Amino acid sequence: MKKIMTVLTLGLAMSNQAMSQELPKASVQLATQTQKLKIYTLVAPPEMFANTTHVIELPHELIIVDGQFFAPYAQQVKALADSLKKPVTRFYISHGHPDHYIGFGDAFPDVPVYALEETKKEIEKEGPETLKKRQEQFGGIIARSLHIPEHVQQPGKEIIDGVTFIFEKSQDNEAAVSLVIKVPEAKTYITQDIVYNKVHLFISGNSDGWRKALKKVAGEHQYTLILPGHGNPSNPSVIEEDLKYLDFVDKTLAGSKSKEEYKSKILAAYPDYGGVHLIDIYLAYYLKKDWAEK
Ligand SMILES: [Zn+2]
Repeated sequence: MKKIMTVLTLGLAMSNQAMSQELPKASVQLATQTQKLKIYTLVAPPEMFANTTHVIELPHELIIVDGQFFAPYAQQVKALADSLKKPVTRFYISHGHPDHYIGFGDAFPDVPVYALEETKKEIEKEGPETLKKRQEQFGGIIARSLHIPEHVQQPGKEIIDGVTFIFEKSQDNEAAVSLVIKVPEAKTYITQDIVYNKVHLFISGNSDGWRKALKKVAGEHQYTLILPGHGNPSNPSVIEEDLKYLDFVDKTLAGSKSKEEYKSKILAAYPDYGGVHLIDIYLAYYLKKDWAEK
């Protein structure tokens, strides 16, 4: 929290270029590879929300999943994509939360952007205002332009450049609607924000639907690589950790008299988790609770 505030406060007073140098870099790793494909995962630093972007390298083209919150990390994705020397034929946005779509407008102005119908509509409606507000809040580390999805992805199976992809619509999880992408030949389940890996889960209300979505992922044993929306690639054991975290949140919410008490209990129980600032954001703006009551 202190670190991010320092970074962001410094950032506001500096030029874009100086700011990008000031920010800690995202990590990039090769999450998996088969004969036909490689999947690279970029993860923003833990104090910068640890948002992920996945770059799927197919024989002749690239598919990218999610667009970051802070523009410098989307520029890092762009550098990675350029280094692979193949065209980006689809850029997917998994759901309509700003940390997955406001970052990449400047870095990828010309790629075809895909989302579920609901997500496309949500970004059309709320994206411009959200971008403006975040620019006012964070200054030059927010992209100047928004790339609103222009293509609708229908759920179903598709073969792209010789590789089978399964697209599914998941509802009532961390978001109201989200796109999950499975790549059977790589045993890979791109869950995005249904799963967080060692990053504080973003709590905005009742999490029963989220638990259901997590259990559905856990039940599909053929997928051994889980790609979360926040945090590093993982195996299915991460799902059990997330379910326990949600249980701990419910218990702690019920037993806390103030936001401060709640936050300190969460931090004490999960001292190594990234995304501490996410707790401040959801407590301030999203999670409705009458704290004095209990
Ligand atoms: Zn997110």
